[in-house]
Amino acid sequence: MVKENSALVILSGGQDSTTCLFLAKKKFTNIEAITFDYGQRHRRELDCAKKLAELTGIKHKLVTIESLSQLTDNAMMSDKEIKLNEANGLPTTFVPGRNLIFVTFAAAYAYERQIPNLILGVSQVDYSGYPDCRRETIESLQQTISLGMEFPFKIHTPLVDKNKYQTVMLAQEVGALDYMQFTHTCYKGQFPPCGECPACQLRAKGFAQASLADPLLN
Ligand SMILES: [Zn+2]
Repeated sequence: MVKENSALVILSGGQDSTTCLFLAKKKFTNIEAITFDYGQRHRRELDCAKKLAELTGIKHKLVTIESLSQLTDNAMMSDKEIKLNEANGLPTTFVPGRNLIFVTFAAAYAYERQIPNLILGVSQVDYSGYPDCRRETIESLQQTISLGMEFPFKIHTPLVDKNKYQTVMLAQEVGALDYMQFTHTCYKGQFPPCGECPACQLRAKGFAQASLADPLLN
């Protein structure tokens, strides 16, 4: 039987998915989380996800997708330079198909557990232009997984129209702010964060606009 009031959060260990986790805790009675190890440079985020799940008492599944690195070469998974790729107009950090794979894998797991709600922290406002963060992509994907598994999936993207400032404010509102000390954002996988990569800069901009200190840096 479909567990209507349950949700599976796709938890990267970053700022946005952590905010989604706390938001989901307010909205659903039964929350679980899933994290993907796809060979990312910033492996620290995997430990962050594990820690956050522990701290919030949420059942957590870590899934390895090592094969992705056999198919694609990008700055998220190798030490390639982070810059604009003139060929496709996207940053070299773009991992083709990443969110499509994450959501499909998460759906397979949620299907087994009869969980219809999937929570994904994508934003199409302050983002790097990744086409799999757009609302159209997610709506299309929701239809595909629901049809393909014949299960009433709903993909929730609470941050899709929010900029980083609004996401920081939301984190504060749902009680996630203190937990930001356990998140990871830096593309280079550095701790303390490098402060220079696009991910670090975007995070800093959000906290600065909110006039709040980033708990990760204090
Ligand atoms: Zn960085």
